[in-house]
Amino acid sequence: MSEGRGSAPGYRPVLRHNPFGLPSVVAEGRSFRPHDSRRHSPEGEDRVSRTAHHDPSCPFCEGNEDQTPPEVDAFRRAGTAQDSPGWSVRVVPNLYPAFLPDSGPDSGPDTGPASGNSSVKAGATASAGGHPAGLFAEVPARGRHEVAIHSPDHAARLADLGPERLGVTIEMWQKRLSVHSDEGLAYTVLAVNEGREAGASLAHPHAQLFATDFVPPAVSEELDRREDWRAHHGRPLLEATVEAEAEGPRRVDAEAGLLAWTPYWSRTRYEVWIAPLEPDSESGAFRESTNRDSLAELLGRVTRRIRDAVRDPALNVVLSDVPHGLVPGNPSSWYLRILPRTQVEAGYELGSGVHIVTVSPEQAAADLREA
Ligand SMILES: [Zn+2]
Repeated sequence: MSEGRGSAPGYRPVLRHNPFGLPSVVAEGRSFRPHDSRRHSPEGEDRVSRTAHHDPSCPFCEGNEDQTPPEVDAFRRAGTAQDSPGWSVRVVPNLYPAFLPDSGPDSGPDTGPASGNSSVKAGATASAGGHPAGLFAEVPARGRHEVAIHSPDHAARLADLGPERLGVTIEMWQKRLSVHSDEGLAYTVLAVNEGREAGASLAHPHAQLFATDFVPPAVSEELDRREDWRAHHGRPLLEATVEAEAEGPRRVDAEAGLLAWTPYWSRTRYEVWIAPLEPDSESGAFRESTNRDSLAELLGRVTRRIRDAVRDPALNVVLSDVPHGLVPGNPSSWYLRILPRTQVEAGYELGSGVHIVTVSPEQAAADLREA
């Protein structure tokens, strides 16, 4: 049985406050991933990722269950044992977690962020050595870092899974988000990385779930903007957006209850958002969405349209969800962003936060509709 860094003595990722802006997680060990270095070689990943349905050296392939930490969840055939073949979706802790459950003397309630909208600033203490308080401050990076393996098939990307298997995958995403919510964690970033340019360190199709005891700053800033919009316009921002895009030039596709479109403010070429046409649960939380079957159909079609229109790019799928602790009746709702990685984030993007997109969202939508 492989042991992850998470179980190694002394492994302790930390969240470092940055007085200039967004914080960082320092997780020594994540950059030292022996499985990956081979796959990051020019010939490594591509040679095995697209065609082979089984890779004997892949820890996520069926039959290699002993190469991952013990599974925490799975949908599997009746009568099959944990950590053995027979599963359709399997969830395991990340071998090199960026976030760890509570442990150790440093993780008491007085040293870390509380739940809700707190940030790393809360409870941060001055470092020793005479520096100004708040300059160098860190707290344990607490939470869960999980991998949801979408299929036993090594080559089945989102575009290939088909609605039934994609529906089962989405059901597992929802199940894990419910577990994180029940555990009192504040927010889960759910992201699919397909292809090296999208940050996938293993080719086998999977999602990463980063469940933390704080709401990430980018999420809480967006929630503030959405709340401001509602205060000024009297209705939720996402609802207004979906209504405006439903029949416009950026509409890409639709399925019962859901719309797919290229956002007016796209930050990458061929970026697509998928959102409910109207709130599909009382809380707006993805885990309570009733549109799972529609989403399986639509996400599959959209990823196939992107594959055909943009020549099979690497891509990220990122869930924008509402914080787990938000009460029913909140004005937010989940949506999904699909971001093909056809451009490298270069100096201007890093220096400005502004992205230069060289295909208009209107043209991208036309290309995707025709694909
Ligand atoms: Zn595999």
